[in-house]
Amino acid sequence: MTTLAKPVDAHRTWRAGRVLLALTSVFAAIAVCGVVWLAVDLYAVGVAAGRLQDETVPWIIERQRLGRNLEQLRLEGQRVLTASSPASRQDALFLVHVLSAQPGMADDPRTASLAAEVERFLQQVGAPATPADMQVWEALSSRLRLMADDLSVEGGKRMGRELGRMSGEMVQASYKLLFNLALMAGFMTAFLLVVQRYLIRPLQRIRRVLSALDPRGPVPAFPPGPMAEIRAVEDAIVRFHATLLENDEVRRRLERLATTDGLTGLFNRHHFMALAADEMARAARYGRPITVGIADLDHFKQVNDTLGHAAGDHVLKTFAALLGDTLRQTDRVCRYGGEEFAFVFPETTPEEAQLLGERLRVRLLESPPVLPDGRHLAVTFSLGLADASGCGLEESLARADLGLYEAKRAGRNRTVVTRRPDGL
Ligand code: GH3
Ligand code: MG
Ligand code: MG
Repeated sequence: MTTLAKPVDAHRTWRAGRVLLALTSVFAAIAVCGVVWLAVDLYAVGVAAGRLQDETVPWIIERQRLGRNLEQLRLEGQRVLTASSPASRQDALFLVHVLSAQPGMADDPRTASLAAEVERFLQQVGAPATPADMQVWEALSSRLRLMADDLSVEGGKRMGRELGRMSGEMVQASYKLLFNLALMAGFMTAFLLVVQRYLIRPLQRIRRVLSALDPRGPVPAFPPGPMAEIRAVEDAIVRFHATLLENDEVRRRLERLATTDGLTGLFNRHHFMALAADEMARAARYGRPITVGIADLDHFKQVNDTLGHAAGDHVLKTFAALLGDTLRQTDRVCRYGGEEFAFVFPETTPEEAQLLGERLRVRLLESPPVLPDGRHLAVTFSLGLADASGCGLEESLARADLGLYEAKRAGRNRTVVTRRPDGL
């Protein structure tokens, strides 16, 4: 087992949780500042509205009332000058006095002095009034009218000023509101872009890599990102891939050990029997011909005894390689034991298998095993074949073994087909 070194990481990383907390704090701080900034103007609007209601509007009503009183004063003055009887003159003079003494009239120095001047004039003017008195009265009368107008204009101007100031503050507040909304929208967009780029996109990449993770495929590669949690997962995937690859290699090594013969590299007997059973079942299902065989090297003991066990091993390996070269892809062969080899020839009758055996025999004669010291060894084998179609595997192999026995008995270096008991 190889231990994997932790990937060297020169890239600076950030913890996603902390980044999100920092971004949220900045957002909250900006939002609070924006709201406070906006609240200042909204408060000013509220104050202006309160002032308008509590001060300006009553003040304007008072101005209008004063204006009306001045007009009333003028009318009563006119009545004094044109009274038809002393009683009505006295009555008008009394009303002039009442109007001049009104608190509103007396509070404003301009109206107070004009009202006092009018009252003084009316009290000292004789009845009937002389043309000179009437001239003075005309002047006083127009001053009263002008002052009433001034008061009304004053009220309108103040109202206009107050409303203008208030609407200015409201416009300013609405600009601030728009600015705040734009700022928050911008921040939210930036926030979502950060989340999309540094969290969602890497997670999507991780999902893609995981769904296509193959131990024999390339090592997963991730572009270096700034989020520590994402990097940890990516590093874990790379380590996981390495573990998968290692396990896959171990599995394949174990599989090879479990299914092949260590010396020749051919299938071992156990695995061969499983493969042969499959081939037999397929042939039986489709009613196809199939032949089995057992081969045994002739006088092999002599090779060991005269040239040594290593030479014997060499012969076994050379013979196995020859089998691999000569047989067809679909034929199955194994080292059955010692210097014995078993075969399954699918889609093959015993006669066709006999031809194959003959080809093998000739090839072994033509290219005999050569020892490291250059010596050629004349090696032969005997082969027993049996028709396996419609029969069991063990039974067919037993009949092939009988054929092998026959071949040995008949002088070796040959192939014998054992007929079935039914004569086929
Ligand atoms: P026959 O022609 O009757 O088959 O004679 P034979 O000598 O081939 O048969 P026998 O059964 O007497 O001898 C088989 C020899 O094969 C005995 C054993 O030492 C040898 N043998 C079995 N397995 C191996 C192996 O893995 N390596 C080597 N070098 N020899 C082996
Ligand atoms: Mg033998
Ligand atoms: Mg032998």
